[in-house]
Amino acid sequence: MRIVLISTPIGFLGSGKGGGVELTLNSLVSGLISLDHSVEVIAPKNSKLHESDLKAKLHFVEGEDQISWQHQDYNAPVSIPDNSLLAGMLEKALEMAKNADVLLNMSYDWLPIWMTLNIEIPIAHIISMGSESSVISNLISKVYTKYPNNFAFHTKIQANDYPFIKKPTIIGNGFNLDNYTFQDSFNGSLAWVGRVAPEKGLEDAVYVANELGEKLKVWGVTEDETYASRIEQSFPQGTIDWKGFLSTNELQKELGKCRVLLNTPKWNEAYGNVIVEALACGVPVIAYKRGGPSEIIQHGQTGYLVDPDDKKNLLSYVEIIEKIKRKNCREWVEKNASTDIFASKVVNWLNKVINEYK
Ligand code: UDP
Repeated sequence: MRIVLISTPIGFLGSGKGGGVELTLNSLVSGLISLDHSVEVIAPKNSKLHESDLKAKLHFVEGEDQISWQHQDYNAPVSIPDNSLLAGMLEKALEMAKNADVLLNMSYDWLPIWMTLNIEIPIAHIISMGSESSVISNLISKVYTKYPNNFAFHTKIQANDYPFIKKPTIIGNGFNLDNYTFQDSFNGSLAWVGRVAPEKGLEDAVYVANELGEKLKVWGVTEDETYASRIEQSFPQGTIDWKGFLSTNELQKELGKCRVLLNTPKWNEAYGNVIVEALACGVPVIAYKRGGPSEIIQHGQTGYLVDPDDKKNLLSYVEIIEKIKRKNCREWVEKNASTDIFASKVVNWLNKVINEYK
């Protein structure tokens, strides 16, 4: 299959601004290549693919980023800036479409989904978020009536945000196991990984660290400076050990030394890449039972699931985290979320989409 992949219009690949989509795109490219498909990626200027994906050709587009939907009002209208990166990437995709079997869109935005109704070329969309915008949800609903196969979701619970989709295609997610080393370290620190932004609920993990009189190691892009400094000021100085944004390789080396990852989403997390990355290193995860984490974590086997926003319960599970066998965590990823498993699910789905256009 010849696949043209359209990246996120928020940040270049490698910047961290695109959140989990960046890693998901790299995993998918690597899985598709290992299954002998041809992949070309359209991405913002300065983007880099992981070393294992160098067989995929990258096409750069310059322009202005979109605003992330989770940071806008649910009823906000679509806004497209002058010199739009998204429009530029789509123009490039249309130009390349004549030599491709399918366009695979990974940007959660209105314009590529709207295009579905207006072009004769197969275009499939990986929906990477829960419902964060009425205008996008309404459009998905409209497109779905004509093209019911063209949308895929990471988890069932994410797809529930789009109740009009009767039988959602669930593709999970994939991780290149070679990029994560298992570490059997029981006495490490508490970890938190993610974009530092309100929907990620960092404050609840800091609460746990503070109650235990420990530091919380925090990795990720600070997307919202005001939010970050507000949390920092609400706890004793030094409770948060800010580690910044690291490459996957550097991150996994550090994360693997930790005894637990705390995952505290305040939104319907579509998947939660960082959970699986921690598990791949052997680090158990305690997460709120909200969105993707509830489908990924095996309660009592690879970590614990806690009622949403129940910080005290989060704390009580940290106290018994040594009951989780770190080997179980790694094994779960091997059996359920490898790049090959992920890419095979995506290929099956893309075949259905392509057939719809014959
Ligand atoms: N991440 C990273 N380096 C860091 C911290 C985070 O590469 O120092 C990446 C991580 O690998 C993951 C992404 O940031 O792929 C966060 O994705 P997730 O699905 O957890 O949340 P999202 O940002 O998509 O809401």
